[in-house]
Amino acid sequence: MRLVVLGGGESGVGTAILGKKKGYDVFVSDFGKIKNNYKEVLALNKLAWEEEQHTEELILNADVVMKSPGIPDKSPIIVKLKEKGIPVISEIEFASPFTDVETIGITGSNGKTTTTMLTHHILKQGGLNMGLAGNIGKSFAWQVAENKSEGYVLELSSFQLDGITKYRPHIAVITNISPDHLDRYNYNYDLYIAAKFRITMNQTEDDYLIYDDDDEVIKNWLENNKVKAKKIPFSLSGKNKKGIYVKDNTIVSNIKKGEFTMPINELSLEGKHNVKNAMAAISVAQLKNIRKKTIFESLTNFQGVEHRLEKVLKIQNVEYINDSKATNTNSTYYALDSMTAPTVWIVGGVDKGNDYNEIMQLVREKVKAIVCLGVDNSKIISAFSNVVDVMVETTSMTEAVKIAQKMAEKGDTVLLSPACASFDLFESYEDRGKQFKAAVQNL
Ligand code: ADP
Repeated sequence: MRLVVLGGGESGVGTAILGKKKGYDVFVSDFGKIKNNYKEVLALNKLAWEEEQHTEELILNADVVMKSPGIPDKSPIIVKLKEKGIPVISEIEFASPFTDVETIGITGSNGKTTTTMLTHHILKQGGLNMGLAGNIGKSFAWQVAENKSEGYVLELSSFQLDGITKYRPHIAVITNISPDHLDRYNYNYDLYIAAKFRITMNQTEDDYLIYDDDDEVIKNWLENNKVKAKKIPFSLSGKNKKGIYVKDNTIVSNIKKGEFTMPINELSLEGKHNVKNAMAAISVAQLKNIRKKTIFESLTNFQGVEHRLEKVLKIQNVEYINDSKATNTNSTYYALDSMTAPTVWIVGGVDKGNDYNEIMQLVREKVKAIVCLGVDNSKIISAFSNVVDVMVETTSMTEAVKIAQKMAEKGDTVLLSPACASFDLFESYEDRGKQFKAAVQNL
């Protein structure tokens, strides 16, 4: 069997290693450059590869093709493969038949990484030797090849779910759904929603689907489509006392016999969105029979995830918070919502089609000054000019942070939550967050 791997990054190299171990004739092809550390791994494993091209004679003879999530369906090589009827699948689909341990699949528009890491943290504290994979860290396929874990917690993007046919998570989580990546879905929101729900399509009555019951998009889909898995809703409102919900500022779960309760102010993570992420993680932990005391403790000592509402420093009683991962208005909504002090807001970058009306009210309530940080700030300025008195344009992080410091008074917060992608001024959201932290340290 010939396995062609398109994309020589983390998931591609992991798939190649697993494929080789399972006896496939493997070829890795990347249209860009492959990083040196991956080239070393490919050489070490005697794997054939090419970069900066896709040689059709070496690709169109595949029995199966693994496509890395970054490659769009529209790219010419994928179109040709599909015309020839060659199956094009994702890493998760390729790797999952080679392990018989359970997986927990976590998807959603926002909160995937936080929920995945929090879930993994609780299960580990509970003594389970779980692998953490998907969009995070070492690829799933690579870990399956090493075969060291008794289960996996997987962060799954819609692109990874597009490439599954049989993959079946024992526990699936959908954190929420809001418009994102629509450029990859013909600007059709329904297609993006359907991609997210692929996570449950192979589940059976023995499996579970955990989801945000306050999310109208999710609720609507579930009303109109059949799901075999047992459903566990989580909700901030607790209107219907099913699954897990919040009552009197306390999380209440009846998923297992004997109520589990946890006051929200005991959670190490702040913000309403993190209460939701915590409820999703608690649900998984209870299904995996983790003791209540362990769940409680793990939620109090979880350190948080870099670039997600990450507290950086307090200088002259001004708190600096790095939320660089907020690349859309929905995630910035939750960041602003969790602000308890007057906020100097650093915002801007590459706009992916933002509708700023969604956060207008919050900006009015919480933001005292805006520092725009992007190549094109005009949309932000026109959106908020009637709401915020002070607005300054900048084009470098150092400048933005210095100006923010000048505008902040004792007791205020300076929040970087861009609501935009980072590619105009930075390499990635991580680079943007790191530059923010460095600029704050230098104040
Ligand atoms: P993802 O992996 O889905 O991109 P992250 O956990 O990395 O999600 O968080 C991305 C951004 O979204 C962060 O800025 C965070 O503050 C915000 N966020 C986290 N969880 C949620 C949630 N449940 N709903 C909305 N926004 C969230």
